[in-house]
This record gives sequence, C-alpha cells and structure tokens, in this order.
Amino acid sequence: MDAIATARNGEAGGIAARLLRWYEAHARELPWRAAPGANRADPYRVWLSEVMLQQTTVAAVIPYFERFTQRWPDVSALAAADEGEVMAAWAGLGYYARARNLVACARAVAARGGVFPETEVGLRALPGLGAYTAAAVAAIAFGQRAVVVDANVERVVARLFAIATPLPAGKVAIRAAADSITPDARAGDFAQAMMDLGATVCTTRAPGCLACPLAGDCAAQALGDALAYPVKPQKPARPERRGRAYWIVRDAGGNDAAVWLVRRPGRGMLGGMLALPDDGWSARADGDGNAPLIADRPLPGDWRVAGAVDHVFTHFALTLELAVYSPGVWASHAQVDGASPGGQWWPLARLAEAGLPTLFAKAARLVWPE
Ligand code: SF4
Repeated sequence: MDAIATARNGEAGGIAARLLRWYEAHARELPWRAAPGANRADPYRVWLSEVMLQQTTVAAVIPYFERFTQRWPDVSALAAADEGEVMAAWAGLGYYARARNLVACARAVAARGGVFPETEVGLRALPGLGAYTAAAVAAIAFGQRAVVVDANVERVVARLFAIATPLPAGKVAIRAAADSITPDARAGDFAQAMMDLGATVCTTRAPGCLACPLAGDCAAQALGDALAYPVKPQKPARPERRGRAYWIVRDAGGNDAAVWLVRRPGRGMLGGMLALPDDGWSARADGDGNAPLIADRPLPGDWRVAGAVDHVFTHFALTLELAVYSPGVWASHAQVDGASPGGQWWPLARLAEAGLPTLFAKAARLVWPE
C-alpha cells in the first residue's frame, strides 16, 4: 500500500489530470456517452448501457442499445412497455434477470415522475441497481464523485499500485486505491477514462505500457511485470475421478450389428443425451467421489477392458474405462434391458448419428473407429 500512500501524498491529482488529458484525445465514441468535459449525461441512457454491459462486451451491447432506445426512447416509455416484449428484445444478451429488473427499475423511476435519483444512495434504492451501477450512474450521468470499479478499472488499478493481495480479497485494496486517485471534479470522465484505458491500452493479455499515459505512475510497469496483476486466486486442484462405460453389442460383424445406448436422465451431467451405459460415475461426481461402482459387470459373462479415455470437466477430470462385453452367446434384449434399463439397440453402422457426448464418442472409438 506504499504506492497508495504516495498517491495520497500528492500524486493523485497528477494521475487524474494525466488520465483526463489522455481521455480528451482518446475517448471511445459510444452511443450512450456525452463528450469529454460535459460532466453530465442522460441518466436513462447511462443506466441502460451499464445494465446491458454487465457480463457483455461493448461490441455486443451497441446494437441492442440502439434498438432499445429507438423503441423506448426514455424511461417512461420503457416503464409502459410490456415485460414480455422487453424480454424478447433482450433475447441474446443473456442473464435474463437483468431484463426483468430493467422493467421494474423503469417503473420505479416512472413512479418518481420519470426522474432518476442523483446520488449513489438514492440510486441504490432502485430495483436491481447494485453498488457498481449506482456509482457509475451517479458519476457519469450526474457528475457526482463516486468510486467506479468495473473489471477494466480493477485491472488498471491493481497494476498501477502493484496490489499483491490475490482476488477476491484484493478487491478491498483495489477499491481503496481507486478511491485515492478519483478526483472530486469530473469523476464521471475519470471513471470512463479508466474504463477506456483498461479496454484499449491496459488490456488483460497485452498491456500497451509504451502508449500508456500512466506509465510513469505505474508500479507494475516499474517492476517490469504488468501481467502479474491483478493477482488471480489459486485455482483449487481439479479432483480426479474414475468411471467405467460398457460396450454391449449384438450380432457384431453381422447385418444387425448394434450397440446398446441409454438416454441419460434429463437432469445432471450430459442430461438427456444418448450415451453408453455406465457405472454411475457422474452421480458419484455430484456427491461422494469414493462411492462404490453401481455395477461392475452389468451382465454375467466375460468382460475385458479395452482401454480408457481422459476427459476434463469444469469441476473434475475423469478417466473413463471402456469395458467390452464378450459373451459366449449374445445377451437377449430382456437381459440387457434388465441390466441397463430404458436403452435401445443402435445400429453400429450409424453410430456417428447418435450424437454421443464427446466423452462417450472418444470411448467408443477405442473399439469402433468411425
Ligand atoms: Fe497498465 Fe502498463 Fe499503463 Fe501500468 S503502464 S497502467 S500496466 S498499460
């Protein structure tokens, strides 16, 4: 935090002034923005853009923003809109709770005569407005001093001050550091300048320190290691699990050659997809990773393990063995269905059309190269 102390001891004004000068020359032109120096902007457009930009890129948001503002040009128009139509217009932006909150918030503002509150505290009281959006609208629309920290600003500040505490705990120090350099005047321009610097210069993978107006202020640059910040939390080791899938065929090599496939339950991993029968590894993965196999050999007879494939899921890595059934006589439909209910014989010649999930397609290729 020494760097923050330095900033408080006189550099803060310098950082803000340098950044604002850069912003005047390099501000991105965005349809919801006022020109640098305006110090105020239409709160409806600022609020709408900030809600849309949560979890979504600027490029993806622009056409949505333009359609919304043509159709509902102000907050009263949006408040009067049919919620279903707003949801339909939102389709493709994702995180649909945002669209529902959008209508609720517009109606709350309409109930206040169509006037947004101007303070962070007042804005926070509106439906769906979190701390970040309230700060952004207060600063950008109303020129209020507010500390606005989105993902871009977080990265810039973490580098500027070489904040070594890993995220998410590091957010506290990042916010304090952002507060220390936020000016009293032009806080909205400052917030947007920080966002633009993060989006266009101090980017995640390739910070352009040579073109950065804050290079002389930047602790990470002085350390020669901008990419080390913000410090990411250590990822927990991915648990390793084992499972077994079963290859049960009838009439192998004959005209009626088919493999037994089952439809996985609708809920849970790979839900609703056709798959090879297995030993219940996914249920164990959801709960007790050491639970015993559901069925080591679903049918009596000879089994051999043909090999194994590795597959990485978000929360664990799986090694799936493929056990191949080699009966003396082919098992009857009733026997197989009894061992692995609800399945069907699928012609081996059309296995590629079954749409097996990658994991099972990889396992099948151990014995049935397509
Ligand atoms: Fe980011 Fe480099 Fe500028 Fe530091 S000098 S703020 S690391 S672009």
